[in-house]
Amino acid sequence: MALLGGHAAGANELAALVAAVLGAEPVVTTASDMTGLPGLDTLGWPAEGAIAAVSRALLDKKPTIVETDVTWPIPALPVTAGGAGKHRIVITDRIVPADERTVVLRPPSLVVGVGASRGVSEEEVLGLIAQALVSAGLSAASVTALATVEAKAAEGGIVAAAKRRGWPVITHHADRLAAVRVPNPSDAVLAAVGTPSVAEAAALASADELVTEKRKSAMATVAIARRRPRGRLALVGLGPGARDLLTPLAVAELRRSSVIVGLSAYVDQVADLLRPGTRVLASALGQEEARARTAVEQARHGHAVALVGSGDAGVYAMGSPALSLAGDDIDVVTVPGITAGLASAALAGAPLGHDHAVISLSDLHTPWEVIERRVLAAADGDFVVVFYNPRSRGRDWQLGAALEILGRNRAGDTPVAVVRDAYRAGEQVTVTTLGKLDPAAVDMRCVVIVGSASTRTVAGRMVTPRGSRWL
Ligand code: SAH
Repeated sequence: MALLGGHAAGANELAALVAAVLGAEPVVTTASDMTGLPGLDTLGWPAEGAIAAVSRALLDKKPTIVETDVTWPIPALPVTAGGAGKHRIVITDRIVPADERTVVLRPPSLVVGVGASRGVSEEEVLGLIAQALVSAGLSAASVTALATVEAKAAEGGIVAAAKRRGWPVITHHADRLAAVRVPNPSDAVLAAVGTPSVAEAAALASADELVTEKRKSAMATVAIARRRPRGRLALVGLGPGARDLLTPLAVAELRRSSVIVGLSAYVDQVADLLRPGTRVLASALGQEEARARTAVEQARHGHAVALVGSGDAGVYAMGSPALSLAGDDIDVVTVPGITAGLASAALAGAPLGHDHAVISLSDLHTPWEVIERRVLAAADGDFVVVFYNPRSRGRDWQLGAALEILGRNRAGDTPVAVVRDAYRAGEQVTVTTLGKLDPAAVDMRCVVIVGSASTRTVAGRMVTPRGSRWL
């Protein structure tokens, strides 16, 4: 299909799309796609040097190392320990020597602050930027934006220079720039635009550290600042277990990450989807706090981390402990998963057709008095009730107590569904009634759904009408 540009040009995706429409399987796409390696061009970062040779070396599992100035949140690369004749992937914004076994990837790390007098030419702006980059030993390919003061937002030479290079222009209000501490403030600039610095202050206001102080030409000033990479934490719900209930977005995040944190049972479930070189930090049951902490710490170190959990990662799961620890120094992405309650409801019929309450019967994190109060309230409101964590060996009386409360104002023939291992091996769906349910038949691998006063069983399926007027 496509002869060129399988990754960035989108041919692999196109092939997958066409295959989906035709109901066919794509047989051969580009070599790196087939083996699960991120193509060196998929990051969207400029790559220079021996792209073909290094891609080939990765495919052939020849010694290849990554050298990076700082940790970037990029997908796993299947690198090996070094060795004689090794290939290298160098990630840097610096101009570095490269040979025929080296690829240099240019991260989006630099912002150029620009100030100018009215009427400056595009050539003067670009010339000064080029000089500043060369003398600092930095690559223009890592420049992500020009930054300036609002008053210069429409300055022709700046706008044209940015357009020529495809850089966006970031503008800051003069008051914002005046508040930035810079090495070379100027009274003349203050008098002209209301801030003692434009180039240095605008660069710093859009990045983290100044790497090149102000340089001047006749009508322009330029300074360069560097952005520190931000780590990325993805909270990924894997659904109840079946592969076809794992969302495409969840798969994309797993393949976007270089570190996976989660219970070994869940990590194992998706092991075949992980890119070679992905670091897996799996742990045993319990240790939730430690898992959340590990994931956040890894992201803080700059990695792309996926914290995985069954169902939805935010429902009685790791999402909230992780986000309680995560500051605004990392990027967070959440991928919803099909939670056990919804998976179980679908297997039971349509029990959630009207208002419902979700209650966990685990008193591990919640005192029984609180749980009981919520069950009473759900009973009072005639909600359909979905019980998670209904019963375990050590917690064997709570489900009975909860059902007793609901039974006070619900008939004995109220439909109840017990769903064990929804969309997993050993799946069992039982639709029974409040009067007949034996709590002893329920365990931690079950969800229990108790109908409201209007829930019915129709042809063995649990159905809650949408309302008395809208059946
Ligand atoms: N984050 C998970 C819930 C974790 S709490 C989710 O969104 O699904 C654990 C409880 O979820 C179990 O005790 C059980 O009640 C329920 N559960 C999880 N997976 C299940 C499945 N496949 N079938 C039935 N119940 C399940």
